[in-house]
Amino acid sequence: MTKLYKTSDITRRKFLLGGAATLAAMTTSFNAQALKNTPVHVVIAGSGSAGISIANRLARVLKKGRVTVIDRKETHYYWPGLTLVATGAWPKSKVLGQNADYLPSNVDWIKEMVAEFDPDNKQVVTDTGRAVNYDYLVVATGVEYNYHAIEGLDTDAIGHNGLASVYHSPDAAERSWDAIKKYSEQGGNGFFTLPSTPIRCAGAPLKMTFLTLDRLQQNGGFAKAKMNFYSATNNLFGLPWFNQFILDRYHDAGMTVKFRTELKAVDTDKRIATFVDADGERFETDYDLLHIVPPMRASAPVRNSKLAWREGNMASGGWLAVDKETLQHINYPEVFGCGDVNGTPRGKTAATVKMSVPIVVANLLATIAGQELPASFNGYTSCPLLTKFGAAMLIEFDYNGDLTPTYPFIDPHKESWLAWVMKEQLLKPTYLQMLKGNV
Ligand SMILES: Cc1cc2nc3c(=O)[nH]c(=O)nc-3n(C[C@H](O)[C@H](O)[C@H](O)COP(=O)(O)OP(=O)(O)OC[C@H]3O[C@@H](n4cnc5c(N)ncnc54)[C@H](O)[C@@H]3O)c2cc1C
Repeated sequence: MTKLYKTSDITRRKFLLGGAATLAAMTTSFNAQALKNTPVHVVIAGSGSAGISIANRLARVLKKGRVTVIDRKETHYYWPGLTLVATGAWPKSKVLGQNADYLPSNVDWIKEMVAEFDPDNKQVVTDTGRAVNYDYLVVATGVEYNYHAIEGLDTDAIGHNGLASVYHSPDAAERSWDAIKKYSEQGGNGFFTLPSTPIRCAGAPLKMTFLTLDRLQQNGGFAKAKMNFYSATNNLFGLPWFNQFILDRYHDAGMTVKFRTELKAVDTDKRIATFVDADGERFETDYDLLHIVPPMRASAPVRNSKLAWREGNMASGGWLAVDKETLQHINYPEVFGCGDVNGTPRGKTAATVKMSVPIVVANLLATIAGQELPASFNGYTSCPLLTKFGAAMLIEFDYNGDLTPTYPFIDPHKESWLAWVMKEQLLKPTYLQMLKGNV
């Protein structure tokens, strides 16, 4: 029987989740009744935020089915906390967890990596050669950091001799703080880079820059610092109003900002970075701090499979070819994608995962039940842009770049302490509830 939702429930849910997810939550509940005796096998590739959250929701519904998660990684990273680790606000321990604590007990967990996707035979093959057949597949393998594309870069050097990169791992974020702390005391030439590829959490490099400026003020290095931001794209942020706001702030702080200027090589011993500018000219510069954002792409097994986009602007990164609204694969209806691996415009945030998981689950269950797909994703992306310690802007938007604020009392155009508190205090508990499939 379909569960009836009271208006007050829906209003509260809408407040917490947004309208699309409310629809999905209701639909999931309807399908749950119809599907609990269906003996299907769903394989989930990847046990990050998307994979675990989907596993929890499916395991509750498919009582006679089987859910298998494939991923060797046992330590869970709370990625959104890494900016706080790399700027000295959080200890590393705060971003580490164990996937075993978040995965439901009734899923099979194969601690191997998918080496090959064979969608024509509804099979994946792991890196130990194990073949796993599925009826339905969810690809949730996140992004691959392509640090190797930057000549001379060894990620072991992060944190040493002025090299920083918040993205790599909690360890590297912690070591990056060593480099940033030293720079904030001594000043010198600081460079922050952006690659030309899509990246996860496009706000993270901007937050790193703002918080480094703040640390320079706090630790005495500001007057001796020359900060630079070199973006390989045409902007700093995809929404024009916010792009201009950030640019103005950086200029006010005396920073030099260059566009279409890409980091190509680094000599970490001599502290020399090599860039190529908009005219294709190669130039070198010495640095005291270099914060690198690596180019990103889908991981090799996705990229090299029939599941990747073969044309369009997502093809070069081998991103998963899903319909941007249903999140169903464009050629294989039994395959869905969730999280950063999806070749959709915008997204690649944990907030996107939170909003899209109920949609993927609703549409997957409807596919199993042979029904029309009930739920549609609007591309919700959220960026708590930290502008200094104690202040942030909560920027939420959809595929069209239209603002989609959740909280009527937070103006996305204004910096506020409340938005900072949300990022620093409230987002992690919400994230953990999302992993459990509760929100
Ligand atoms: C520095 C930083 C700051 C961020 N800040 C924010 C923020 O403030 N707000 C926000 O909403 N988002 C933020 N994000 C983004 C957010 O963390 C990600 O968008 C989100 O975690 C993506 O989840 P995912 O499940 O797609 O990927 P992940 O959590 O990375 O999980 C992918 C999983 O797939 C596994 N995998 C990879 N390849 C294979 C394979 N071949 N076989 C099996 N498994 C595989 C990996 O081991 C991994 O466990 C930030 C990210 C970073 C790095």
